[in-house]
Amino acid sequence: RAKAAGGNRFEFADAEADARAITRHGLTNALPAALERGEFFIEYQPLVHMHDGSVHGAEALVRWSHPQYGVLGPDRFIPLAERTGLIVPLGRWVLEESVRQARNWQSQLGGAALRINVNLSPTQLHHPGLVADTVAVLEQSGLAPGALCLEVTESALIGADDELLEPLRRLAALGVDIALDDFGTGYSNLANLRRLPVSVLKLDRSFTQGMQQSPANPVDVKIVEGIVALAHSLELAVTVEGVETGAQAAQLRELGCDTAQGWYYARPGAPDRIHTLCLSDAVPAPS
Ligand code: C2E
Ligand code: MG
Ligand code: MG
Ligand code: MG
Repeated sequence: RAKAAGGNRFEFADAEADARAITRHGLTNALPAALERGEFFIEYQPLVHMHDGSVHGAEALVRWSHPQYGVLGPDRFIPLAERTGLIVPLGRWVLEESVRQARNWQSQLGGAALRINVNLSPTQLHHPGLVADTVAVLEQSGLAPGALCLEVTESALIGADDELLEPLRRLAALGVDIALDDFGTGYSNLANLRRLPVSVLKLDRSFTQGMQQSPANPVDVKIVEGIVALAHSLELAVTVEGVETGAQAAQLRELGCDTAQGWYYARPGAPDRIHTLCLSDAVPAPS
């Protein structure tokens, strides 16, 4: 692209790429100290029951409050942390912190069974300490394993062999839920679902977007219908991501999706938000 636009553009694009690489390099180097200094924080986004809009739980989404660049989203630094292995201690911190938070909500709300979803990256999946760390965090906090859901992307599990699945199977056997995140984007073999120790499919936001047009994109409707039927016949729950409008919520509820997450209900926010939403039932039910 730059080449076709001529020499100047090429140099410009080159400089831009350099700047990006330098930033990437700088961010990568800054990660360990950032973790040490407590520059990471977690926002929580509610997961709601589609039938009545009540809060089912929350997903923990990590952010980096960078002293120079401001708040950075996970897409900016998780891939870097993955490459350097820092994702292991960072992920452990996220797990510890969000499980502690879930426990707080539960006691604030008089023992309500609020659930917490935590994302796992492929590197964490391969890390031998995953099961022991998770068990330790649960025991320390006193959170029931059934209140924790670990989210693994569909693409991380494509072609997964038994060795990779073993830790997830052990966690599932303890009662921890495993969700297949961004489902529908990974071109996985649907029959493969039977082998995976998952109990939740998180339907990717791209399907939700198909529900926005009026009438909804008929192909997306058929696909969602099919996925929901398959999931339910395998006794998997279906969560939809990225619900931004009431129309999407209504359509997806109609199609049988169980739980939902998205800006229509609430943006990711401070832990107190979840607590308040639970008490007030302020989350809109789909009309
Ligand atoms: P994800 O797990 O699929 O999380 C959902 C993403 O969609 C979040 O982006 C969330 O803020 C965003 N989102 C929620 N509702 C809406 C909506 O209605 N519309 C739109 N357009 N977006 C919505 P976020 O927070 O930037 O996180 C991006 C990804 O980073 C996550 O995708 C997850 O894969 C990864 N991530 C976040 N936190 C962690 C973590 O602690 N560990 C690891 N390994 N990965 C994480
Ligand atoms: Mg997720
Ligand atoms: Mg997702
Ligand atoms: Mg996603």
